[in-house]
Amino acid sequence: LDDSIDFISEDILSGQGTVEMKSSLSKDIIQKNERESLPIFPFREELLQAIAAYKVLVVVGETGSGKTTQLPQYLHEAGYTKRGKIGCTQPRRVAAMSVADRVSKEMKVKLGSEVGYSIRFEDCTCEKTVIKYMTDGMLLREFLNEPDLASYSVIIIDEAHERSLHTDILMALVKDLAREREDIKVIVSSATLNAEKFSVYFDDAPVFNIPGRRFPVDLYYTKAPEADYVDAACITVLQIHATQPAGDILVFLTGQDEIEAAVEILNERTRGLGSRLGELIICPIYSTLPSEQQAKIFDPTPPGARKVVLATNIAETSVTIDGVVYVIDPGFCKQKRYDPRAGIESLLVVPISRASAIQRAGRAGRTQPGKCFRLYTKWSYYNEMSDETSPEILRTNLSQVVLSLKSLGIDDLIHFDFLDKPPTDALIRSLEQLYALGALNDRGELTKLGRRMAELPLDPPMSKCLIASEKYGCSEEIMTICAMLSVNNSIFYRPKDKAVMADSAKAAFHRVFGGVGDHLGLLACYCQWMDSGYSTQWCYENFVQVRSMKKARDIRDQLDAMLERVEVVKCSSNDHQQIRKALVAGFFYHVACLQKNGSYRTIKNPISVHIHPSSSLFKSEKLPRWILYHELVFTSDYFVRQVTEIDSSWLLQVAPHYYREKEVEDNKKKKLPLKAQQHQK
Ligand code: ADP
Ligand code: MG
Repeated sequence: LDDSIDFISEDILSGQGTVEMKSSLSKDIIQKNERESLPIFPFREELLQAIAAYKVLVVVGETGSGKTTQLPQYLHEAGYTKRGKIGCTQPRRVAAMSVADRVSKEMKVKLGSEVGYSIRFEDCTCEKTVIKYMTDGMLLREFLNEPDLASYSVIIIDEAHERSLHTDILMALVKDLAREREDIKVIVSSATLNAEKFSVYFDDAPVFNIPGRRFPVDLYYTKAPEADYVDAACITVLQIHATQPAGDILVFLTGQDEIEAAVEILNERTRGLGSRLGELIICPIYSTLPSEQQAKIFDPTPPGARKVVLATNIAETSVTIDGVVYVIDPGFCKQKRYDPRAGIESLLVVPISRASAIQRAGRAGRTQPGKCFRLYTKWSYYNEMSDETSPEILRTNLSQVVLSLKSLGIDDLIHFDFLDKPPTDALIRSLEQLYALGALNDRGELTKLGRRMAELPLDPPMSKCLIASEKYGCSEEIMTICAMLSVNNSIFYRPKDKAVMADSAKAAFHRVFGGVGDHLGLLACYCQWMDSGYSTQWCYENFVQVRSMKKARDIRDQLDAMLERVEVVKCSSNDHQQIRKALVAGFFYHVACLQKNGSYRTIKNPISVHIHPSSSLFKSEKLPRWILYHELVFTSDYFVRQVTEIDSSWLLQVAPHYYREKEVEDNKKKKLPLKAQQHQK
């Protein structure tokens, strides 16, 4: 190995208890003793008694102790499902799917029958389902249709320590529900010992502790900060593979891009290693990875080989992978930030908290003593990391949640019983946004439009577009664009060795509607795929991901069914002006204007932004004066993604209440650059 990183070892994350653990190697047949060897098992009866005795119970236990997989089964076995379903919420969709899959196998039933899951745009349940894993966002949606959750006998708010926005809102709602419904049980389950806060919030609910078992983990730090942590992580993987005894490796990265980059680096560097070392099995896991591939991380490692799991934060507490002995922690995660004054939401790569770092290291010591390689200095650990991750509710755009709460009849949000109160600024901002969209009237009450918007499982601007599209005669097209945008920037495929061909295929879609922007490019792409008879071959030829397209089609079908419920007439138009006006109807505050230096400036509370390199407008000869964007991300700078050219006069037509003439006047006399002079970062 050419490269290596020097680590210094100083700390030990101490273990507690040393209970032997056997794990079965058979993949699909899960032995009874495997369930019984989990730390939670000895407490089965006590837990059931506590649940019987109290309406709300806080359950705390180390990750991997069996809370998520076992609690619902215990309750099912104890007969709770005779009165209604057990709902178990997860902040992450991957966790909901993978845990449901696991539990269905443990119960020897087909996934989607007695045990199922529900995530946005994917419902894998049926009338028989009694144990339902779901994202917290989905349960929030169910509240809208069934405010007393009458079909449930138990609600488990799992991974409460993650403090996701929807989990926080759910806690407030189930707290109320528990007061109203005599026959419901609420379990709040958390991985950290810091559960006192939950107990206090739920009127001093009792806390049930499941004692953990953990082996000591040696902690190593780098001597100096690492500039490129993805590369450093890969080097460390190879270092471990070359020098350390058997045991799988878990690497924490921040997202799909980094994970894919790491997979590529590792594939490349292990190719040259020959057979001197054992096989290195590389398993990525992130939320948009197809589920068959997600399941691969749980496959037992064959003797002589070593598995390296490249994961997002999901592996911190939501899923547990057996066999991990080495953890590599670069110390970063992706985090949403929200600036309510500018109304800007961004996804940033930020240092993790010490609480996260401890959780991550702990993953190495589940079944035997382990090692954790921290790709940061000990000094950073103590001086640059915060104690705990701040709850999402404090740093996110609240529009969708506010809309949901309003449609649940909760009007006074300032005095709502939040576990942590969101900043008043942010609340006011979201009320303003909803008002601007027409979802609230000037007294802050939900309008008919708002009620229709709340029915759709989309962000308020998107819902608004879809409902407004009827007026512009293009609901079919907007539905397609919504669906394509919902599959998360994973439509186009760009292999390094065929980058030129891939780019020209994408440019061809862009040209269909006169090169006005990404939204229309996505529409063109979908339409051509449809015309090809949804052909897989067509996808290959056009560098389009089949799976993403199928997903988009599925989402589109679901939106199609929902449109009827919100009474939107289906209509179709090829006029890209009309389509873009419909987009403006929802996204009129996601607008920016070209500057002299080739960057763009947003209108209200202006900031300077750049068109993201992935946009088809990035390299355009003549930059449009006015653009509408779908999202704004911050990496090295502010970038807008999914960008479409608009005419500023539309802003006054569509949102006269929001813009003043002066703000959007198109001063054509001003000299503007003709050629793109973008900052290539
Ligand atoms: P907790 O919720 O307390 O963190 P879980 O119930 O998720 O614990 O996990 C209990 C055990 O079940 C873990 O030790 C893990 O080995 C196993 N497990 C969970 N999900 C899967 C899966 N999809 N495949 C294989 N094993 C799994
Ligand atoms: Mg769990």
